[in-house]
Amino acid sequence: MDIIKELRDGARISALIKAIERFSDTPVNIMEICGGQTHIIMKYGLPQILPENIEFIHGPGCPVCVMPKERIDHAISLANQDNVILVTLGDMMRVPGSKSALIKERASGRDVRTVYSPIDVLKIAKENSGKRVIYFAIGFETTTPMTAALMEVSIKESFKNIFFHINHVLVPPPIHTIMQSGDVKIDAFIAPGHVSVITGTGIYKPIVEMYKTPVVVTGFEPVDILEAVLMILRQFHDKRSEVETQYRRAVRAEGNTKAQQLIDKYLAVRDTFRWRGLGDIPKSGLMIRDEFAFMDAEKVYKDILPDKSIDDHKVCRCGDILRGKAKPLNCSVFGTACTPENPLGACMVSSEGSCHAYFKYKKAVDI
Ligand code: SF4
Repeated sequence: MDIIKELRDGARISALIKAIERFSDTPVNIMEICGGQTHIIMKYGLPQILPENIEFIHGPGCPVCVMPKERIDHAISLANQDNVILVTLGDMMRVPGSKSALIKERASGRDVRTVYSPIDVLKIAKENSGKRVIYFAIGFETTTPMTAALMEVSIKESFKNIFFHINHVLVPPPIHTIMQSGDVKIDAFIAPGHVSVITGTGIYKPIVEMYKTPVVVTGFEPVDILEAVLMILRQFHDKRSEVETQYRRAVRAEGNTKAQQLIDKYLAVRDTFRWRGLGDIPKSGLMIRDEFAFMDAEKVYKDILPDKSIDDHKVCRCGDILRGKAKPLNCSVFGTACTPENPLGACMVSSEGSCHAYFKYKKAVDI
């Protein structure tokens, strides 16, 4: 049996559910940090097949969802500059800013393009040597190495027309913000395996030590998630709080040190970064190091970039959802005024957003 079939195998899933039932004697709130894992949980209807006392709380790990409106406004302002091609990832196109969205800017004639990989920016820059190509970079630790690799190639090959607007963010700081807010009770975390492939597992040790919450680093298939739930329940049963790795097929404790070095060469931690729903979080985002300021669009275009905090649409509860305080079904316009075709908020736009997951898999979750 191939690995993916094994990780979706019905018999294995049933055996895991039975094992979980044996260990499940008290209510447990588990936050899955990553939006990709939220989608797996909803796609396979895990809340419906697990014991009722296991509650999944959806976390802030959707990079598009956590971008506040003012960062979208930055992208729109940059796209409106003469001689500029703005490049980003597809999910960013429909996220509403304060007055517009990139997809609307493109429809009105601005040169906004999407790429599957940051390296595709090189081709655009080569073919448009008379224009400035600005890469609007988003993502957690998983995608940051690709942006750093693009910076490396851009410098080595002496590109003069590639610039970067960096919106890379880090997983642990918003977890501390959520835990310290007291808004929601979280007993344990399921952490995204692809982040730990890069960072290693040590980034979660302070969370375990400070809050005594088990953290299990896991993958993106139903068997991965269920094994992580079982590992969490075993920790509770044994009265342990540890960082454990279920995703051993890809994660090493030290992570990818070459990728870490590449990131560190070009990017530094910002003093603070503003998150949708979570506000300003210290040391939670990355920025271009001063020595590479010549390619930093935030510095080159600093006079035209707005820096005003902008609230979400008044009915949108995306911010509460990202804090774990609400679920998509608590939003009064879910599936009516807000759908993937006509999204009011980022959580419905993004392919990793919780609202998008609930909408996409609503049959599986019996909505
Ligand atoms: S359903 Fe739409 S409006 Fe409601 S919280 Fe989600 S994104 Fe916001």
